[in-house]
Amino acid sequence: MNDTNAAAPGIDPTKAHPARRYNYWLGGKDNFAADRASGDELERLFPKVRLGALANRALLQRATRFLAAEAGIRQFLDIGTGLPTADNTHQVAQRHAPESRIVYVDNDPLVMVHARALLDSSPEGRTAYIEADLNDPGAILDDRVLHETLDLTQPVGLMLIAVLHFIHGHGAATAIVRRLVDALPPGSYLVATHATSDFGTPEQQALYQQLVEQGKSDVWTRSREEFTGLFGGLELVEPGVVPASEWRPAPHEQIPAPSDINLWAAVGRKG
Ligand code: SAH
Repeated sequence: MNDTNAAAPGIDPTKAHPARRYNYWLGGKDNFAADRASGDELERLFPKVRLGALANRALLQRATRFLAAEAGIRQFLDIGTGLPTADNTHQVAQRHAPESRIVYVDNDPLVMVHARALLDSSPEGRTAYIEADLNDPGAILDDRVLHETLDLTQPVGLMLIAVLHFIHGHGAATAIVRRLVDALPPGSYLVATHATSDFGTPEQQALYQQLVEQGKSDVWTRSREEFTGLFGGLELVEPGVVPASEWRPAPHEQIPAPSDINLWAAVGRKG
């Protein structure tokens, strides 16, 4: 994307933003020079980061398919939507269950500019978009559009995919996840992926910590233990907490090394 045509309200093309950087790694065109520079900087440290972005996206699709086709979920709350790409949550869900309803939430105003692509629902289903910040789950839960689209007395698939690592601070994500899960009825599911330093060497971990402290990376990694804690009170669906590529891979799928992907994934059910 050309940096001079950015001028939608609230969009600052001089500052890297996760949605645009992720779009860059996925090979998309909806990103600015600052996003590419930030993406390249992280790629120098994590040469397989693009593979990680693709693996994450593949997990989103497998988990959505699981919820729609196997778990009978017909309502989805997808927070940290990202810029539309192939096979967004509603397309995967509605392929299996056309009546599925999806609410997307993101805090990047550029996602709103592209939201029309997220709103091309099947005629039987429905999609909606809310611009909001995951740091304020109460605002998401109180949003009129959410209640017009989803019935919170019926199970919901809460998708927090590659977004919780933008919530910085030890323990900071736990309260947010708890608040959201508490608002959903039994039979609901939580799907999450999360960046981790667990697979790095001690040298890589120290280097990464420095990058975060210098403000050069906005991704706050969490350990397996802390990630697992986000699913407290939920029943983990098989195979539990695993590297993202190892969560129910398709038969014959090539599984990259966990240290190339650096993402934990899990799906939990509220009993
Ligand atoms: N869930 C998608 C996109 C992940 S990229 C996928 O897995 O493919 C992370 C997304 O989270 C970006 O779109 C970014 O704009 C959004 N995001 C980051 N911090 C956020 C916050 N505090 N509130 C809402 N969205 C946020």
